[in-house]
Amino acid sequence: MDLEFSAIPEGKYTSRSQIARVASQTWVHRELACLRCSYRPLSPTRENTKSRDFECSHCEEPYELKSKAGRFTRWVANGEYGTLLETIRSGRTPNLLLLEYDPIGLSVRRLQAIHRTLLSSLAVIPRERLSVSAQRAGWQGCNIDLSVVPEVGRVPIVWDGAELPWSTVVGAWSRFDFMIRVRPDSQGWLRDVLACVQKLPTDVFTLDEAYQFEPILSELHPSNLNVRPKIRQQLQVLVAQGILRRDRPGVYSIMRRAGIMRKSR
Ligand SMILES: [Zn+2]
Repeated sequence: MDLEFSAIPEGKYTSRSQIARVASQTWVHRELACLRCSYRPLSPTRENTKSRDFECSHCEEPYELKSKAGRFTRWVANGEYGTLLETIRSGRTPNLLLLEYDPIGLSVRRLQAIHRTLLSSLAVIPRERLSVSAQRAGWQGCNIDLSVVPEVGRVPIVWDGAELPWSTVVGAWSRFDFMIRVRPDSQGWLRDVLACVQKLPTDVFTLDEAYQFEPILSELHPSNLNVRPKIRQQLQVLVAQGILRRDRPGVYSIMRRAGIMRKSR
């Protein structure tokens, strides 16, 4: 993997952000393979395709690229609030590629991917609506709160200017294959319960602490009246899949990515 951006022809684009966007998109197309099936290259979607910039032409996995000069911290700016919620609700969330580049050296510093099945609406935080004087008055954007995205579901591909072995990347990614295979309703429950426990102050938590999220989860899944058994069942599945660990009866731990990132709290 060559981490340097290709030169973008001068004159075609006017703003720095436009150039950066084109340079990072060109880089992804040039270097990145599909995380699910390793097919390369990823195909860019037509301009203005909603919430996806690339698609794998072999397995159809969708990807959306977010790039930034410098670090992503807790918040990742996203588009329209209602659109993203609807995208998640209808199971059309793309995998998110978070690309951090060095604006001087024009090269990739970090690239991580968020598995599309793991972005819960609980991680989507609305921004203030634009004021009446703004060009798009009333428009409401949103941020993604990375602290509510499970760390195991944020897979590093490039870290601090070094590429990770592809086998490590696809190994970490394929842990979530089971999420693609479950029914959409079950996928939603797993994703939301995982997002809830991610909000707890420590990595070790009890079943009673998980039950605190009963009101939030009933609101998200109004057709289910037995929320507590449902929470318990999701925890069991997440333990069986190695996403959580059961330390002793009623006590669980959130598994972390080894050595790469500490949770910012
Ligand atoms: Zn693919």
